[in-house]
Amino acid sequence: MEYELVMGLETHIELSTNTKIFCSCTTEFGGEPNTHCCPICIGLPGTMPKLNREVVKYAIMVGLATNCDIAEIAKMDRKNYVYPDLPKAYQISEYDMPICEHGHIELSNGRKIGLTRIHIEEDAGKLIHDRGQTFIDYNRGGVPLIEIVSEPDFRSVEEAIEYLERLQLIVKYIGVSDCKMQEGSMRCDVNVSVRPVGVKEFGIRTEIKNMNSFTNISRAVKYEMQRQIDLIENGEKVVQETRRFDDVLGVTESMRGKEDAHDYRYFREPDLVTIKTTKEEINAIKDSLPELPDKRLARYIKDYGLSEVDARLIVKYKRVADFFELSTKGLKSYKSCSNLILSLIFSKLDSDSEKEEFNIKVTAEDMNELLNLLESGKITNNIAKRALEDMLNTGKNVKDILSDDDLKGLDENELKSICDQAVKSNPLAVKDYLAGKEKAVKALIGFVMKTTKGRADARTAEKFIIDMIKK
Ligand code: ADP
Ligand code: MG
Ligand code: ZN
Repeated sequence: MEYELVMGLETHIELSTNTKIFCSCTTEFGGEPNTHCCPICIGLPGTMPKLNREVVKYAIMVGLATNCDIAEIAKMDRKNYVYPDLPKAYQISEYDMPICEHGHIELSNGRKIGLTRIHIEEDAGKLIHDRGQTFIDYNRGGVPLIEIVSEPDFRSVEEAIEYLERLQLIVKYIGVSDCKMQEGSMRCDVNVSVRPVGVKEFGIRTEIKNMNSFTNISRAVKYEMQRQIDLIENGEKVVQETRRFDDVLGVTESMRGKEDAHDYRYFREPDLVTIKTTKEEINAIKDSLPELPDKRLARYIKDYGLSEVDARLIVKYKRVADFFELSTKGLKSYKSCSNLILSLIFSKLDSDSEKEEFNIKVTAEDMNELLNLLESGKITNNIAKRALEDMLNTGKNVKDILSDDDLKGLDENELKSICDQAVKSNPLAVKDYLAGKEKAVKALIGFVMKTTKGRADARTAEKFIIDMIKK
């Protein structure tokens, strides 16, 4: 029998507010264990949490960017469970009145993945297991999180990964988290079930906890899907449970039975007031949202005439796209900028993370100056490339790199006379060209470029040379 995958994702994203969700401790990553802590975030009795409004604002921003309805009234609840990473023995989260609901993210195949809800909550501390002992670092405890719960709408791993990439990019554009899976600021619980193709009802699901890379999500889901199919084919039943992925063995294994909501004995957090947000506040947040990646992409293709491939490569990295925006300010053509970024600049940034960081020695202002010179015909494409290469290597600005000669340009008569020299001093190439070897003209253009140190426009030179030869 053929089976279909059904999948839903619960994605946790750490928010980059300066301070924690209920106290004024720093949210900074790392640090000596238990130094980013205070009586509130280590849960000493008698302390009172106070909600950081910035957290609410960040969550609403993500909600608006993912087509959610925003709740004017929300509240926080206690989710009770006993585990040493949680000093109070409960996590403050949102249960039945989350801040955002009913959103969606559209995939490139046109399918809309529903977002059930986005809620805010506090992160737990970190357990470090070492030679039979367990140490606890509460620095992460109380760092604000949003949890984005999707509907069980995914039908392939590829869809899930595209969704995560899109979500990641949206959140980075808004600037509320760096969404680094390898540092844990974005983590996923993956819910997996299978059903025979054609059947409407969902199968029993398992939940794989705390996935921290796309590769592992893909490996885990493929393994888990096959495991469930094998069980069903053997006449056994899938058990609803929580599993973990062993990335060395490449298998999922049972951790514990699945808890239900009633196991957590949710009740309203009595130490916090209702979260009220007015329509006006929500609208103001909406107006303050930056341009989102999809919109930028459409603009680059439609208004700027970039190819879809080029536009995607630029939009994929927020810093690259911002650099592109500033570099092209006031220009008529955007293509030379995207070409230079994707060829010369990207050739210096090998990995994805280098492109993401986009640490280059050229400022957008300098790039803009260079592109202005190119567009106004004061320098040729060759000189622009040479200058940019120099700028990237040395960090010098345009003016320091371009000589007076570079900026002078060539007038037509000067260019004609150099083309004439080229023709006269390369009789062999001329002969080859006349004999039908069209490529031979390249040698003549090369002569012109060398003599003019790249100041000549290659296309004009080619035209002049061919005219002269044919005369
Ligand atoms: P819990 O919070 O207890 O894990 P939820 O009902 O909130 O349970 O669902 C969690 C996730 O499981 C959601 O992302 C949802 O889309 C997904 N899900 C629910 N049912 C299924 C199913 N049969 N197969 C796959 N995923 C499912
Ligand atoms: Mg869950
Ligand atoms: Zn604290």
